[in-house]
Amino acid sequence: MTEHQAPHCLQCQKAPKETPQSQYCSLKCKLLANKHVDGECWIWQRRATADGYGIVDHRGKTGLVHRVAFENFVGPIPEGMLVCHHCDRPAYWNPKHLFVGSSADNYKDMVRKGRDARGERGFHTKLNEQIVLAIRADDSKSNAEWATELNVTAPAIHAIRIRRSWRHVV
Ligand SMILES: [Zn+2]
Ligand SMILES: [Zn+2]
Repeated sequence: MTEHQAPHCLQCQKAPKETPQSQYCSLKCKLLANKHVDGECWIWQRRATADGYGIVDHRGKTGLVHRVAFENFVGPIPEGMLVCHHCDRPAYWNPKHLFVGSSADNYKDMVRKGRDARGERGFHTKLNEQIVLAIRADDSKSNAEWATELNVTAPAIHAIRIRRSWRHVV
């Protein structure tokens, strides 16, 4: 097989590769090439964050797969909104199973589904990528307000905002 030598995208085999180093024509094709099907769902089995959200690198930037998938297959994510999963698994990313919600919606949904591991495994279990993104996107709440809501310290919220912690989340 000499397919890896081909000038065209390994996924769609139509468009030229995005750069000489890349295998694919676009981020969309890169995502599709890493799709593992589980019934109606698509699973990301490559890099993931500590709490299981898929990570993909593209043009020197790192993104969360479910957000990037939403942007590339559905449309732009409105300012300050989160991408949530109907199928409720962080590494799942079928765009048809993703929806946009506010941080409050998502947090309530998470608590309702029992995914909030508050107090069980310490600091990091109280925060996840979705909450980190919500904190950074929402300037209307103070560090202290977020801290109270999430049962963490105000300096922990500050560290998230200035990207001293959770730096891998974009
Ligand atoms: Zn392609
Ligand atoms: Zn799904």
